[in-house]
Amino acid sequence: MDTTLLTEDKDPMGAAILDYFKNKKAGRLRVFSSQFDEDEIPVPALFRSYEEMPPIEKTALKLAAGRILDVGAGSGCHSAALRDMGKDTLPIDISPLSVRVMQERGLDARLTNLFNPHFCERFDTILMLMNGSGIIGKLANIGGFFLRMKQLLNRGGCILMDSSDLKYLFEEEDGSFLLNLAGNYYGEIDFRMQYKQIKGEAFDWLYIDFDTLSLYAAQYGFKAELTERDDHYAFLAKLTLKD
Ligand code: SAH
Repeated sequence: MDTTLLTEDKDPMGAAILDYFKNKKAGRLRVFSSQFDEDEIPVPALFRSYEEMPPIEKTALKLAAGRILDVGAGSGCHSAALRDMGKDTLPIDISPLSVRVMQERGLDARLTNLFNPHFCERFDTILMLMNGSGIIGKLANIGGFFLRMKQLLNRGGCILMDSSDLKYLFEEEDGSFLLNLAGNYYGEIDFRMQYKQIKGEAFDWLYIDFDTLSLYAAQYGFKAELTERDDHYAFLAKLTLKD
């Protein structure tokens, strides 16, 4: 599992977040993938308020309790909303520029990688939002991910994670699915981002369907509950340790 941090010269999303925070406007945050056409992340959406969040995220924030870890917190939108709700949250990110913005917003943010073994506190809720399963990277990492969660969770604690089932991308006109079962899991996506002249390294991002998530969760001692589904392919899962 990768335990490193980003550097400022290779942190396009952090640069976009800092630009928008300072100037209230930003350029295009471009997203490339070997599997998809070029896309864009609207930078203002990274600063969404509670009212602007999708229902799945609102539910996650309502359910979050006790000491909360906001993993890959970005601009700190969820941590800021949780603070407004009077909840105790630690936002972490590997992006030095994003962490700087969160600190300037008055959030007690920390620059650390979720998988850094020196980061060893315990939490009641571990929040992973905006296709938060992505941080797992590849399906082969999921065992390491669950072991790491066991180190970070208090007894009775939970992980609240959203993801999307990408199966719809492979749907044929007749409603069947054209999946290459001998290939990689269909939710394993590679991305690269660019903001102005700043190019990030390619990284792996795991989208996982709920059944696959619960199967692996069970194998590593967790119970997965489907908390909410949207009208499309996204869902919120709650993962708790089986006793
Ligand atoms: N949760 C935010 C941002 C999502 S983008 C939102 O919903 O708006 C994903 C974020 O995760 C990025 O800021 C990225 O820097 C961070 N990240 C990626 N891998 C990480 C890791 N291993 N540990 C901590 N943060 C990570």
